[in-house]
Amino acid sequence: MLTGQGRDAARTAKRKLVSTEGIFTWTVRVWLKRDSGQYWPSIYHAMPSPCSCMSFNPETRRLSIGLDNGTISEFILSEDYNKMTPVKNYQAHQSRVTMILFVLELEWVLSTGQDKQFAWHCSESGHRLGGYRTSAVASGLQFDVETRHVFIGDHSGQVTILKLEQENCSLVTTFRGHTGGVTALCWDPVQRVLFSGSSDHSVIMWDIGGRKGTAIELQGHNDKVQALSYAQHTRQLISCGGDGGIVVWNMDVERQETPEWLDSDSCQKCDQPFFWNFKQMWDSKKIGLRQHHCRKCGKAVCGKCSSKRSSIPLMGFEFEVRVCDSCHEAITDEERAPTATFHDSKHNIVHVHFDATRGWLLTSGTDKVIKLWDMTPVVS
Ligand SMILES: [Zn+2]
Ligand SMILES: [Zn+2]
Repeated sequence: MLTGQGRDAARTAKRKLVSTEGIFTWTVRVWLKRDSGQYWPSIYHAMPSPCSCMSFNPETRRLSIGLDNGTISEFILSEDYNKMTPVKNYQAHQSRVTMILFVLELEWVLSTGQDKQFAWHCSESGHRLGGYRTSAVASGLQFDVETRHVFIGDHSGQVTILKLEQENCSLVTTFRGHTGGVTALCWDPVQRVLFSGSSDHSVIMWDIGGRKGTAIELQGHNDKVQALSYAQHTRQLISCGGDGGIVVWNMDVERQETPEWLDSDSCQKCDQPFFWNFKQMWDSKKIGLRQHHCRKCGKAVCGKCSSKRSSIPLMGFEFEVRVCDSCHEAITDEERAPTATFHDSKHNIVHVHFDATRGWLLTSGTDKVIKLWDMTPVVS
């Protein structure tokens, strides 16, 4: 379904370069599409330390680059993208900068680092405005301009919400739903929902605006989810993973929360005892069974009473999962219709950027390849 536009296709890219002296240097490259249709770098800018993240603001052509040494370097690109002029450096962190967000409306630069600090700076004065210590290294950072809430996802699996003022911040809440670290966050300011991707292979949609604490799980990857992007105009979420999968989720679908798993000493269908229920096992002279759970109703059931599998897209399970026999009978074919489309990028995606105006998706992988995808057949 997707069409790749060539492996070198990208406007900005970062990569290591071995210079003629054999010394490692690190560069920022700006790739331009030439008349031939090919992308070639117009700029190779050498950096003093490896680049770890970046944020580009097209309106001001401001490029903020986070480095391994903790510095954020800011540049302005010329109108023809043939020159980048250094503006300032922020000594933002003690070690690698992990995420950067430039907020034009407030002239703020938000960042997180390997030093477990969240910091924000004034991009006009270059002054540090404040900081907050996160519970683990952050790997997801989003900001709601209207309410000035910042969302920080970290390696412990926690998401922290802070309210930022000009020079201080307050903790609003923290929440936790993943069994692995948070790898990416994506905020939809219109529906006021936050998406978190995790190394536990799942994406969770948190209904922040609804204030009911609803959390919908999306299971569509066989490996770590590593990057997220949201197409606001079509309400589609794009999740990318270590399995090379690009999953496009229809978020117009009303999904339900997965049920709490019930605890029981015996199967809630056939009453056979589970193996830790020694009293009942002794009374009925039967060997205990392993406990399983139906993903649809949450009941504790034995293997015999949950022998079938089904996808439950309306609960976020795009892959087949264990269901009890009665739930299996009750699920209609209509309910089994997929609510996401699946595509193979053929590389381990670590970063994505979606350009909504063109419907193009840029993916970069651990294979050092950047791919540009025409998503218009599926994101429309
Ligand atoms: Zn069931
Ligand atoms: Zn049973």
